[in-house]
Amino acid sequence: MFQTAGVSDEMAKKVAYIDPDQCDNSPMCPLPDVCKQGAITRRKINVFLMEKPVVDPEKCVGCGVCVEDCTGAAGMVEG
Ligand code: SF4
Repeated sequence: MFQTAGVSDEMAKKVAYIDPDQCDNSPMCPLPDVCKQGAITRRKINVFLMEKPVVDPEKCVGCGVCVEDCTGAAGMVEG
């Protein structure tokens, strides 16, 4: 039988989060390309505009690479 309760804080998964209030929505944003898990996506609004990047916490493995390459909007949070 599996134990599902009592997971310690050290075992909690960390995932990336991109704060939409801090994101400058740069057209040169590298984050969708730097995430090798495909966890960061950015939808096209039209030929000129993109939505801000978002993280899929189910795909994120918590490596932190995107946080290093972001200008300040990305950070790690408890998943
Ligand atoms: S922490 Fe790693 S896996 Fe998660 S979104 Fe950032 S680059 Fe992708």
